[in-house]
Amino acid sequence: MLHYLDHAATTPVPQAVAQAMVDVLTEGFGNPSSQYALGRKAKAALEEHRKCIAQALGCPPERLFFTSCGTEGDNWAIRAALWHNRRVGRHIIATAVEHSAVLQCLKDLEQQGYSVTYLRPDICNRITAAQVAAALQPDTALVSMMLVNNETGTRYPVEEVAALLRGRDTLLHTDAVQGFLEVPFSTKQLGADLITISAHKIGGPKGIGALYVGQRLPHPRPLLFGGGQERGLRSGTEATAQAAGFAKAVELRLAGLEEDWARMTDLRNYAARRLSAIPTLQLVGQPDAPHILSVSLPGYPSQNIVNDLDSKGICISAGSACHQGKASHVLTAMGLLKRIAAGTVRISLGPGTVRADIDALYDALQEHHERRFPML
Ligand code: PLP
Repeated sequence: MLHYLDHAATTPVPQAVAQAMVDVLTEGFGNPSSQYALGRKAKAALEEHRKCIAQALGCPPERLFFTSCGTEGDNWAIRAALWHNRRVGRHIIATAVEHSAVLQCLKDLEQQGYSVTYLRPDICNRITAAQVAAALQPDTALVSMMLVNNETGTRYPVEEVAALLRGRDTLLHTDAVQGFLEVPFSTKQLGADLITISAHKIGGPKGIGALYVGQRLPHPRPLLFGGGQERGLRSGTEATAQAAGFAKAVELRLAGLEEDWARMTDLRNYAARRLSAIPTLQLVGQPDAPHILSVSLPGYPSQNIVNDLDSKGICISAGSACHQGKASHVLTAMGLLKRIAAGTVRISLGPGTVRADIDALYDALQEHHERRFPML
């Protein structure tokens, strides 16, 4: 039996989502740019799907642009903001714990002459708006602060940063890939100018995400030039089936969202309590979002834990699935002792996770620990 506890990496697609995609692929397959009825139908359906996702974010549909993934949204947001603020300056503030989709883009920009101030978290992975205030310069063009950290589930004070930037030219981007439908927020409440989301973290298909672009960027720089799709900002024939799947996933998650959050929070707390009974196990970071919990078995390489649990049908990840075995920059930035960082694994839940999954995880980790430390 599979115990899938890696929903922050990606999520299973419910049957209804797959069916919504099949319907588009086989029947509503027209090109939204085509001039006949099939094309018009595809265009209308695409706009309905955009509306559904925009509603979940609390923004007008015309401010939401489909992308191919969260990585694309992050890259586009950062470059669009810097182009918009090209006369403000070339200084950027970002947290040191952003996803690599943000960090690698910034690295490239640094090579082009931008300077970046990276804000370090405390040992619990918290970062404050005061740190942003202290780092602001007259030429700061952009602040990029993620909403929820993908390794520890820590939520950052994006709305406080938005308030801090009010009246300034500095734009605010937030990578909400781990926050969308996992913690409550709307575009209005957050006050960020650019918000990145991705479908495959919430039961949608891979290959589609979206970028919210606020009113302070009335003419954002296009990402792709070509046929003029997505209001001329991201050319390329629209991924209509993925959009249908994305919207269906949003619809399914929205039904019973509050109960799902309460249940997942209970389960996460249950996991934290249960796993804490394993000698030497430590909780890592402050988990604010209901779906993520990081723990460390110091002195035991996380990849070995992942492999051992994999052999028992349990899927968890070592740090972040996106880092492929390298030491996690998040745990390093938090200043964790090397032994603790090296032994950290991430457990992430979904609406379908049950206690039996956590119990199986506990048994497997306990056994792992006993084999490693038979004397304790
Ligand atoms: N940002 C965060 C916080 C993520 O967790 C991820 C994926 O793990 C991404 C961005 C990238 O999203 P995608 O896989 O859709 O490119």
